[in-house]
Amino acid sequence: MSNLIPLLEVDATRSNPAIRLAKGMYQKWRRVIAGVMIAIFILAPWLELNGAPLLWMDLQNRELHLLGLILWPDDLLVLIWVAMASAFALFTVATLSGRLWCGFACPQSIWSMMFTWVEEKTQGSRNKRLKENNLPILQRRLLPLMAKHFLWALIAFVTAFTFVAFFETGESLGLALVGGQLDGELIFWLGFFGILTYINAGWLREQVCNHMCPYARFQSVMLDEKSLKVTYNEERGEPKKGEGDCVDCELCVQVCPVGIDIRQGLQYACIDCGACIDACDDIMKKINKPTGLINFSYKGFSKANLKDLLIGRGKLWGYALCTILTAGALLLQLSFLETLDAHLSRDRGQLYFYNSQGQLANGYTLKLHNKTHQTKHYNVAPLNSGLHLEKPLTIELSAGDDRTVAFQVLCSDPCQLAGTYNLEVNIESQDKLDKQILTSRYFAPR
Ligand code: SF4
Ligand code: SF4
Repeated sequence: MSNLIPLLEVDATRSNPAIRLAKGMYQKWRRVIAGVMIAIFILAPWLELNGAPLLWMDLQNRELHLLGLILWPDDLLVLIWVAMASAFALFTVATLSGRLWCGFACPQSIWSMMFTWVEEKTQGSRNKRLKENNLPILQRRLLPLMAKHFLWALIAFVTAFTFVAFFETGESLGLALVGGQLDGELIFWLGFFGILTYINAGWLREQVCNHMCPYARFQSVMLDEKSLKVTYNEERGEPKKGEGDCVDCELCVQVCPVGIDIRQGLQYACIDCGACIDACDDIMKKINKPTGLINFSYKGFSKANLKDLLIGRGKLWGYALCTILTAGALLLQLSFLETLDAHLSRDRGQLYFYNSQGQLANGYTLKLHNKTHQTKHYNVAPLNSGLHLEKPLTIELSAGDDRTVAFQVLCSDPCQLAGTYNLEVNIESQDKLDKQILTSRYFAPR
């Protein structure tokens, strides 16, 4: 069988069993971006805009609350534009500078970085951890080990809580947790996301990037010959420990979260996090050599001619244009977002009839959906002269509610109508903010 089906051997052994935390400009940026993204993630189910959390997927009412907007299943196009604009923005960044997203803003990297930070703060330096990893479990320092796993579990719990709060709101999930009123379903999802985070960021880390993430596989097609990638300047660095500037300290390898040696050339596993640049710059400063032995670069790149970075790059400009177009379409779609959904249909069965007062009447069904955050009162009235409702019709709908109402349109006495007419019905909220004119047919005897 193995002769017939070619097999790919995957080695998922951890190549860097104890990551050293790097310090430097790129790591500062990584931490700032991570801090902002974590803050947004944690606060989104708690902070309110227009009376609802910034992000709340209210499955029961089929509503998505996003940054003060309410989106319904029929507003799916908004989400499609959001997804397309985000994808093209990601492609633009990838063409400009490889896996910048992976290294600086991907949640997998951010959570792995957080877990590595906890590891270093509780169990100590890389050397200490490496030594300890080789000892039998009972000979290891138990307290730091327990502290590490406790903090990992705590972060995993906060992450799981926030995920579930996107569906429940932070307040209601918090109250259920404090009041001991979590039902079986909530406990399941909290456990599911918690365990997933713990395994993902604590144990799997770069294995997710290398073997599970589809973006790692197809990002190479977005690169061109001028894409900035983290690169080792071989001409300057070699021969190591000799005439070249590389002192072979291996710090660039020790800080690498995916466990590669960038001196061996470009590798698909590199997430362009810049940790090796910071580590190497630090060494270069110590030995009084210019920094930048490892840097974001491409063949022929020169800092003196940064303009070259933007010239002759059809792919980059193509993706950038698509990003602008899709973001524009998103804004346009948002500006057309309806706050009132209304449908009018004629009652089937009879063209017209006479009511108990002998007046000519046609029957209709009106479906209204209030897509705003406020309770609204809608006035309903025909616009055609010679037609009126049986009595003034005002429909009250609370935020997000929908209702179906049946009514009759009567021909005013003396009725002058004969044949078929286009009926126009005006629906207008009493605050004058929402208005729609719906059309149908009105039948009278010929
Ligand atoms: S090689 Fe450098 S930039 Fe690439 S993942 Fe490793 S540390 Fe980050
Ligand atoms: S950190 Fe710089 S000097 Fe040290 S091994 Fe890496 S490339 Fe060489």
